[in-house]
Amino acid sequence: MIYGGDIHFFKRHFQPFRRYYISNAKLETVQPRYSTYTNEYCWVIDNSTVVQQVHESEPPMLPDVFNFKPYGRIYEHIDTDEEIDLLGVAIHVNPRAMRGPTPTREIIIVDESSQPLVLTLWGEHEFDEGQQIADMIHTQPIIAALRIKATSYHTLNLSTKFATCILINPPTTQANALRTWSSKNQEAFLKFIAERTYADRLNLLPAPVDDTVVTIKSLTTTNTKRPYWIRGIPNLLDRSQKMWYNACPICYKYLRARPNLEFDCTSCHKRIRVSPGAD
Ligand SMILES: [Zn+2]
Repeated sequence: MIYGGDIHFFKRHFQPFRRYYISNAKLETVQPRYSTYTNEYCWVIDNSTVVQQVHESEPPMLPDVFNFKPYGRIYEHIDTDEEIDLLGVAIHVNPRAMRGPTPTREIIIVDESSQPLVLTLWGEHEFDEGQQIADMIHTQPIIAALRIKATSYHTLNLSTKFATCILINPPTTQANALRTWSSKNQEAFLKFIAERTYADRLNLLPAPVDDTVVTIKSLTTTNTKRPYWIRGIPNLLDRSQKMWYNACPICYKYLRARPNLEFDCTSCHKRIRVSPGAD
């Protein structure tokens, strides 16, 4: 653990995945507000700690300490406070976009489940790792995204949080296996991008297996805040309402415009044709 100004002091000393000799670090109990894992104690170093890099041509493999979520089960965490870890190969990046003063960038990641997803990097994660990933996207880097959140924005979106950590090409057996898989699936990746599979709601939220569907009755007695699959017959109470709206077919921004009007979307800045849609 490094605190305050010492973080800046060490900024250029440490490289991801390299090993270091560290002398005279202090052992402290973890302060809950800085805790990311369930450890009781941590090593603390400051700018007086002696740090020396271990000279190795290749960094050693990391132990398999990560608990990556299968893509098909991410929906269980939508709009909860839970943080999840994901591994994926980055197959596409969008240009930087500003949301107010905050830079954001969307990255399309995919794993062996062939369910491409959008990961949105915010703020510092965009400036640092986002730019780095964009610069090397032609190499399709493997991304380990730790402590991210899943939201229902555009059905299913992954976003970085302040405490998120993005590892690029981590030296792990899982990352190596994913790289081997990705080298054999280049045609599928081109299709995902061309067909925008990552925005396809049926692909993002496939029909659930039966044992995950709960009854409406049991839903009324549960207190746990998390997404549930239910089965029922919809009944329209108010038939006077409009059942559709006009929107951008790419970013789904509601637009007060007639269908088929062609213009540059004010939200995603792409050339679009306004289309009617429903949510
Ligand atoms: Zn748009």
